Amino acid sequence: MLTNTQKQMVTNLRLQGLTYAEIAAATELSPNTVKSFCRRRHIKIDEAEPSESNICKNCGRPLTQQPGVKKKAFCNTQCRTEWWNKSRRRHPYRLTCYYCGKEFISFGNKKKKFCSRECRRLSRYGEDTA
Ligand SMILES: [Zn+2]
Ligand SMILES: [Zn+2]
Repeated sequence: MLTNTQKQMVTNLRLQGLTYAEIAAATELSPNTVKSFCRRRHIKIDEAEPSESNICKNCGRPLTQQPGVKKKAFCNTQCRTEWWNKSRRRHPYRLTCYYCGKEFISFGNKKKKFCSRECRRLSRYGEDTA
């Protein structure tokens, strides 16, 4: 069973375009749990934004997709390798927002304090007037 926080995290990360495996790593859930949750909630990003998934995940160059063939995500194996090397360094940290107290995921930066720009802004504003 997923808690409400976990559900929200999975949904948010999926909407940010992360893969099931990446979400699983970030939320410490099993990839199958993440997958079945996304299926049940109909969070299927790949089909929802065809134009943006048609660019190389590494260099951003447009890709030519062959109809009927599994979609390519990279223009060549070099781009794929580079991307994997980069994304492996992107370690997900589970943090709590200093302002709203919500849990959020930060990639590669465990010193992040706020879940959003809005929270950072509000917190600064609060300090100024105090
Ligand atoms: Zn590329
Ligand atoms: Zn916040």
